[in-house]
Amino acid sequence: MSDKILIPGEYVGPGEVYAEGTTTYADGDEIYSSAVGKADEAESTVKARVSKPELKAGDIVYGTVFILMDSFAILNIYPEEKDGKIPAAPDEGKIPVRAMSEGFTPSTRDAVRIGDIIRAKVVRIEGNKAELTMAAPELGVIKAFCSVCRAPLEKTAKGLVCPEGHMERRKTANDYRHYGKIRF
Ligand SMILES: [Zn+2]
Repeated sequence: MSDKILIPGEYVGPGEVYAEGTTTYADGDEIYSSAVGKADEAESTVKARVSKPELKAGDIVYGTVFILMDSFAILNIYPEEKDGKIPAAPDEGKIPVRAMSEGFTPSTRDAVRIGDIIRAKVVRIEGNKAELTMAAPELGVIKAFCSVCRAPLEKTAKGLVCPEGHMERRKTANDYRHYGKIRF
């Protein structure tokens, strides 16, 4: 990877070395950049790459639930930092009820509630939304708030409980409330 930053219209290199792609265009046998980025000589293909990576399947995001229906939840999402960069991402993520846990979840309300903070994995990007899953032990709610008194819920042997004794159910991540510092 060259350290030279390319701007749109700038010469990247000869067509036999550099490929035409989403961030480049061809003019005859020559390739030019159509984005701001660096020339990337990976294996046999070489492309101008935008400096900011895009959110993609398999990436981890954090988010807060703000819409909750029986069959899905909508979160605002913040991608996890990757190699010191924050991927460009849609503002919203959707988790269908079938992806709420490894097992069967009858209703989203058995797994999440409005205001919960969640770690999820990207399944695919669809337009301006990321479809997400919580179906893995390390995925799910990392901090939940009591739906009665709004106090944070503590994980106990009996389940999640608030200081006033309200018991609630969530699909928690295995590091619930012990996730350390999250870098966005
Ligand atoms: Zn409570």
